[in-house]
Amino acid sequence: MYNFQRLEKLADLRGKTVSNGKYTDYGVDSKTDITVHHSLTKSGDSSAFANYHVNQLGWHGVAYHFVILKDGTIEWNHNLGLRSYHVGDWNTQAVGVCLVGDFRTEEPTKAQKESLKQLHDALVKDLPNYKVTKGHNEYPDYTWKACPEFDYKKVISGDVDSKSSYKYDPNKGIGTLRVKVPALNVRDEASFNSNVLKTIKENDIYYVYKEENGLYNIGGDAWVSANSKYVGFTPHPKQEKEPEPEPKEEEKTYYRLETGVFGSKEVAEQEAQKLRNENGWTVRVKKA
Ligand SMILES: [Zn+2]
Repeated sequence: MYNFQRLEKLADLRGKTVSNGKYTDYGVDSKTDITVHHSLTKSGDSSAFANYHVNQLGWHGVAYHFVILKDGTIEWNHNLGLRSYHVGDWNTQAVGVCLVGDFRTEEPTKAQKESLKQLHDALVKDLPNYKVTKGHNEYPDYTWKACPEFDYKKVISGDVDSKSSYKYDPNKGIGTLRVKVPALNVRDEASFNSNVLKTIKENDIYYVYKEENGLYNIGGDAWVSANSKYVGFTPHPKQEKEPEPEPKEEEKTYYRLETGVFGSKEVAEQEAQKLRNENGWTVRVKKA
């Protein structure tokens, strides 16, 4: 019996979520890493993620060995040696632990942090070849990835009360995108005729800096299609803005012709009258 199996909040979901049974088990000796993720969703659980990973992405089962819910429940999905899909080239050596939440904008609950700390302590003992714990974006090729976006190092060292210093910057660019196809071309200009620099992978997440000609700029000279068939775009959460001072009455009221002309009421009425006279149209003047 493994140490982690003694955890009070453990729920054994092995074989209980959607899967096609094709992930391979290389044995517990194959694992040297513990990889920490967040779900990038406000809610969800292993069952929901399994549905998405199997039915939408065509994977063999839920990505993560463990999913930690907001209430601290530790859902156990796979035997430790299983090679599931959660960190690309490192899947064989890494046990995946995912906390439910979008930690770009929120903090894990204290219950989640406590469960992560306990699970981590147990796994370090349970993995005979354990070497390292890393966040998803600490692996080469994943440095751009907004995962896990909370200070897991503080948590596993026992500090479950501290707040994270987020790397996610809602002022950086206009939002983030997630790749929806197995491989997506990255081009060197905002044009579908420009050179392909490389491809990026399904489920990869990037900051988006601007949109031009149907392409998103993902930093520097890198552009990808903005077609929603290929990428899912998430605008940054709206920032609270200082309320603007009330303008004076005469500045505040504008009038708009239905043709789209803006101006004072006087200008709008003049324009409207001109159209009525010239064309015999019925022209209404509306407040803008
Ligand atoms: Zn991740």
